[in-house]
Amino acid sequence: MMSEQQNAYLKAMGIDVWVERSPAVSAETEQQLKIEQVQPVPVTESEPAPAIEILPEAEIPETLESLNWQGLQTKVTECTLCGLAKNRSRTIFGAGTHTASLMIIGNAPNEEDEKYGEPFSAEAGKLLTAMLHAMGYQRNDVYITNLVKCSTFDNQDPSVDEVAACEAFLTRQVNLIKPDLILALGSITAQRLLKSKSTMSRLRGQLQYADGINAPIIVTYEPAYLLRSPNEKRKAWDDLQIAMRELSSINSKREVSALSNETTL
Ligand code: SF4
Repeated sequence: MMSEQQNAYLKAMGIDVWVERSPAVSAETEQQLKIEQVQPVPVTESEPAPAIEILPEAEIPETLESLNWQGLQTKVTECTLCGLAKNRSRTIFGAGTHTASLMIIGNAPNEEDEKYGEPFSAEAGKLLTAMLHAMGYQRNDVYITNLVKCSTFDNQDPSVDEVAACEAFLTRQVNLIKPDLILALGSITAQRLLKSKSTMSRLRGQLQYADGINAPIIVTYEPAYLLRSPNEKRKAWDDLQIAMRELSSINSKREVSALSNETTL
């Protein structure tokens, strides 16, 4: 059963919840429960764009598996493995907690993200925050990143080659976080991640698994798409509920296992 707060956030997502509302929730309280506006701190000084020399051919990065967060982020900041390096004012590595049980992956940062230094910073980011609230998470409870760490030309989808060039960075992020579940946002993210050409209708609604990624994946719509197609928010909520059930099931199994270990000691 959903909490009043989750109902309020669903309303903020634009989804009507057909359950009897508690008379105890006053209009004032409901207003307080509405989605917090994402207020990332703008960059106060414009950082000079580093001189970038694009390598003639993408080189496979040296193994990243020994790198910690700081080392990995430095590698990304210096990376010129694909042509997107020419387009960026800075790389957008990711944001959130490094011990998140839920990891969110989109396709690519945009200009707004470059301005604020975080993925999903603008209007689509506000909707993503509302979606997370509806699941019972604060934005800082999860880890959010993209397939590629540099913005694309004219906000185009990242190409297969660009995603491949950036893949090792994402894989290392996943391995460092060890999330219980990944939420893949949008068809391009899902198709590139799963190396599949299947449609959203085939990819949604069930756990998916990607080579080299040691966590189940739930596919749902991109917040930017949901802003353009609000009628699909109901389906997105269905996906989020699958994710919530899976996370709850993983937690329950973990608790049972811990209890059983205690009793055998
Ligand atoms: Fe490097 Fe990834 Fe940026 Fe391409 S998108 S230049 S692989 S960090």
